[in-house]
Amino acid sequence: MKITDHIKNAKGKTLFSFELLPPVKGKSIQAIYNAIDPLMEFNPPFIDVTYHREDYIYKQHETGLLEKISYRKRPGTVAICAAIINKYKVDAVPHLICGGFTKEETENALIDLQFLGIDNVLVLRGDARHADSSFIPTPGGHAYATDLLEQVMHMNNGRYLHEDHDAFKTDFCVGVAGYPEKHFEAPNLKTDFKYLKKKVDMGAEFIVTQMFFDNSKYVEFVKKCRENGINVPIIPGLKPITSSKQLISLPKVFHIDLPEDLSEAVHACKSEAEVKEVGIEFMIQQCKELVKIGAPVLHFYTMSNPEPTKRIAQAVF
Ligand code: FAD
Repeated sequence: MKITDHIKNAKGKTLFSFELLPPVKGKSIQAIYNAIDPLMEFNPPFIDVTYHREDYIYKQHETGLLEKISYRKRPGTVAICAAIINKYKVDAVPHLICGGFTKEETENALIDLQFLGIDNVLVLRGDARHADSSFIPTPGGHAYATDLLEQVMHMNNGRYLHEDHDAFKTDFCVGVAGYPEKHFEAPNLKTDFKYLKKKVDMGAEFIVTQMFFDNSKYVEFVKKCRENGINVPIIPGLKPITSSKQLISLPKVFHIDLPEDLSEAVHACKSEAEVKEVGIEFMIQQCKELVKIGAPVLHFYTMSNPEPTKRIAQAVF
């Protein structure tokens, strides 16, 4: 079922959903089930699975020469989605990224998803490879989420890359990313909104936000979206602080601010166990407020560790 229909059917009740990373190569599908099982009691109507671009590793040969090898550490997004649908009978939402794919490969991936009965995709540009200082598009691929979105929309209209297939139109409900605190590359919030609006005008039907810890940022973002004619559901993305290192890593990696009361509470902790408690308690309060203001879904970035999310969901749902 489409995410927009799940939201409509909920009639204003806030839903629970979460996302997982594919396990690193060498781990079995059981790692995924272990991350999902503890969260099924909260009835997620859908579960997202992230996509990861290939990166480079350097292999040293006996001669001492280093060989640069292209390597995907976390393959399996599409297969994991199929396994989720099969085992849990809920919708699985694969993330679809520009990086690492030619347009042909994207077309074939979308055909696979359609054959598997997947109704929703989250369309993204994708992160840069770790070795690259900024995002470099794959030759023959897309540079922005808008370009990838255009390809999905064309397929929804039966327009494939090299021919039209009126009898085989895909019917994907497409979500896109939104940034309450601005995407780090956008010169200003206004320009970022311009492209977000473009994504929605092109056919995106819901937005999932970057994580945030200050609900007023989400409220302001939703308000600005509505003022700019962006009227699709805006799903808050959420992640509790679980370690003191995250006071530095989250702002650095995700370009977000942490509220002063949260950072001070973490600084005052005497152990990492205490930090985790503070992070979970903070997120419970944040989520209760989001439910009160009518967020359509609370979407958790579980990073495949279900325990903190389970504690929060127990307190909120
Ligand atoms: P875009 O919408 O393409 O925007 C990128 C930048 O370019 C922005 O600054 C925007 O203002 C600007 N821009 C947009 N369109 C245009 C245009 N047409 N012309 C010029 N400028 C433009 N990364 C992964 O690798 N895998 C994942 O699974 C993944 N999941 C994510 C899920 C969520 C909910 C979020 C919020 C992020 C996720 N990311 C993931 C990270 C994401 O790929 C990065 O944040 C990336 O830097 C931007 O992706 P985007 O889709 O927002 O890009």
